[in-house]
Amino acid sequence: MTTGTDLDLTALRAHFPLLSREQGGRPLVYLDNAATSQKPDVVLEAMNRFYETSCANVHRGVHALSRAATEAYEGARRTMARFVGATDPREIVFTRGATEALNIVAASFSAAHLRPGDRVILSGLEHHSDIVPWQMACDARGASLGVLPVNAEGALDLAPLDALLAPPTKILCLVHVSNALGTLNPIETICARARAAGVRVLVDGAQAAPHLPIDVGALGCDFYTLSGHKMYGPTGTGVLWGRGDLLNALPPFLGGGDMIKSVTFEHTEYAEIPARFEAGTPNIAGAIGLGAAAEFLMSHDRAAVLEHECALYAHMVAGLQAISGVRLVGTAPGRLASQSFLVGDAPAHDVATLIDQHGIAVRSGHHCTQPLMQRLGISGTVRASLGMYNTTEEIDRLLAAVVDARDMLA
Ligand code: PLP
Repeated sequence: MTTGTDLDLTALRAHFPLLSREQGGRPLVYLDNAATSQKPDVVLEAMNRFYETSCANVHRGVHALSRAATEAYEGARRTMARFVGATDPREIVFTRGATEALNIVAASFSAAHLRPGDRVILSGLEHHSDIVPWQMACDARGASLGVLPVNAEGALDLAPLDALLAPPTKILCLVHVSNALGTLNPIETICARARAAGVRVLVDGAQAAPHLPIDVGALGCDFYTLSGHKMYGPTGTGVLWGRGDLLNALPPFLGGGDMIKSVTFEHTEYAEIPARFEAGTPNIAGAIGLGAAAEFLMSHDRAAVLEHECALYAHMVAGLQAISGVRLVGTAPGRLASQSFLVGDAPAHDVATLIDQHGIAVRSGHHCTQPLMQRLGISGTVRASLGMYNTTEEIDRLLAAVVDARDMLA
């Protein structure tokens, strides 16, 4: 199997049962990894093992089965701490996904720190999951939103950054990697400038975690969120990492079991992190599966995986660029994993439907980034997004399908 790198793609793909699926008599080509990724056998096995051998509720039981479940769940937390470079596993909060993690920060940070007249800055590349919760929070607190603009290539324009970080700004929220355009943002630089201005930074790492080794300390952010199902973990999982002192100073997002120290009808004392933000029975099997996904990723040479993905991405971009009538949307330097494009004047959904007829899954639409699409003057794109298991042959099939779609829609 063509790799162009040292990665053994045949062995890697054998871990993913779904990749052997056929569509229309040909092997399925899955290029919708930014929406969700496929799951390796080790993730499925870890979740099954939990249900088959140690299914019990965590934390509250003294019996052996509950202790086993708790150990597996807390083990997954330690794994996720290692995965993001956190020194203290208590700074890892398990969530339903990146959306819930972003909502926790928006609701709890705004309750503690946003006053009328304050400002929140979002980048122009944000997913709706990092826009809507902040709009809700700003509405509730009498604060306003500002936007760090995007240029026509899809890169952030940092010229107005310092002005936007000036008072009354309290927090800056931005994606690490754009889901719509693949733009990789200079997070360290932006965090350093925010820190100098006394502004907190929330990084939405949903599209970075599957591809890049993450080190929250080196990035210099205050909060980092990721989506488990996009990094080969189960659906309904995600992580919020935050600096311990900051998280412990925030009010809880949800109330209920496990997030308390004591309750009377008059007053509740909240638990410290991570329980503070994990009310109710968590997705125990999901967290264990996510831990297995992180272990799976970390068991590979991540530099080699990234090199493979970058080589594949360059091949895909060059191939799309060479097809007359195809226009790339998102041309910022240093992009990663996702490439958006349009074919002539054809609606993106029509193009994606024709590509699907070749047994190739790509996404079309606004990718939950309507403000970004408005900035670019379009209603949506076709997006092909890579996972670690994709191959050169699959990209070649995509390119042939795009040519066919162009000819059919001409
Ligand atoms: N942020 C980005 C950049 C995304 O791409 C997505 C999902 O597409 C999300 C947030 C939401 O993630 P989740 O599905 O885990 O809630």
